[in-house]
Amino acid sequence: MPLMRHSNEVREMAGELGKYKLCVSARSADKAILKKAQDGGIVTQLFKFALEEGIIDGAIVAGPGDEPWRPRPFIATTVEELMTSSGTKYNISPQVSWIKEATRSFGLDKIGIVGTPCQMQAVRKGQLYPVGLRDVPDKIKLAIGIFCMENFSYQSVKQLVEDHAAMKMEAVKKMEIGKGKFWVYGQRGQVVQLPLKVTHKYEQPGCHVCLDYVANLADVSTGSVGSPDGWSTVFVRTRNGDDIWSKAIAAGCFETKPIEQVKPGLELVTKLATEKITKNQKTVEERAKFGVNKGLRNPYLGPK
Ligand SMILES: Cc1cc2nc3c(=O)[nH]c(=O)nc-3n(C[C@H](O)[C@H](O)[C@H](O)COP(=O)(O)OP(=O)(O)OC[C@H]3O[C@@H](n4cnc5c(N)ncnc54)[C@H](O)[C@@H]3O)c2cc1C
Ligand code: SF4
Repeated sequence: MPLMRHSNEVREMAGELGKYKLCVSARSADKAILKKAQDGGIVTQLFKFALEEGIIDGAIVAGPGDEPWRPRPFIATTVEELMTSSGTKYNISPQVSWIKEATRSFGLDKIGIVGTPCQMQAVRKGQLYPVGLRDVPDKIKLAIGIFCMENFSYQSVKQLVEDHAAMKMEAVKKMEIGKGKFWVYGQRGQVVQLPLKVTHKYEQPGCHVCLDYVANLADVSTGSVGSPDGWSTVFVRTRNGDDIWSKAIAAGCFETKPIEQVKPGLELVTKLATEKITKNQKTVEERAKFGVNKGLRNPYLGPK
């Protein structure tokens, strides 16, 4: 399949990368954001721009929680609050739990939300089938999705860091999954890499039926795969996402490069997305014949 067509054409790729208008490699032009960001600081920079321009009046982000590296979803209404949320926490942060409250006690009219592909699905489902979500559907103004191969429970991350990598959670500066390894970077410069075969048994079982790698349903989705260190791969998907992205580019928020000019580029993103979907599709199918003459539920088919 040709990966390089005209960048402004809406591309309908095979399911694995979803629909998008534009794909680039990018990073924030703001040094303070880049310093704390997981990759190119796309999420923090785009929300900062949207807050400052009044495109959103708050963003549901994953900030620091009660224990080191345990995320706590919260609603950032200022740039200072937003800046505390940078970086990836590799365990579950129930982002969508704040979506209704954002319109209630926080009084937001224009909500931003970041999350994994499953959380983008929850947002879109809530917009189309707003069961118990009065007022929410029209108030989602910027949904930023992050690529996700799998997630972990907090206990699992603790096991990986403390048992396998022999580091204290509070002494960790950054965690990263990339180049086939789970990387743990210590505050004092130590680097421990764990092969992914060690991490597999700790994955959230619910992730094994997930058929979305690059947040197909977001306005803008981003991840590290495909771009060099310190840069992000960005898919601009919806008309709304395109409008905000174009304004942010015009305001000088990002440096960009055509994805075709960076290595490893879309080829690797497509490969990983295909691997995830193929493996998990198999799990979905196996559930149908899990028991003797009965199977387990398939959420993609709905109730019988
Ligand atoms: C569980 C998980 C698995 C991932 N797997 C991949 C992968 O396989 N390939 C890949 O390319 N990228 C993956 N990513 C995405 C990548 O790690 C970065 O989050 C993404 O590139 C954004 O970086 P940034 O520099 O633009 O964001 P920053 O500006 O650093 O901001 C990060 C944003 O992510 C949010 N966030 C942090 N942790 C969580 C969480 N647990 N749940 C929801 N939101 C969170 C924060 O609220 C913050 O707004 C994964 C992320 C997570 C959370
Ligand atoms: S793998 Fe899928 S279900 Fe699991 S956290 Fe990522 S997006 Fe959600």
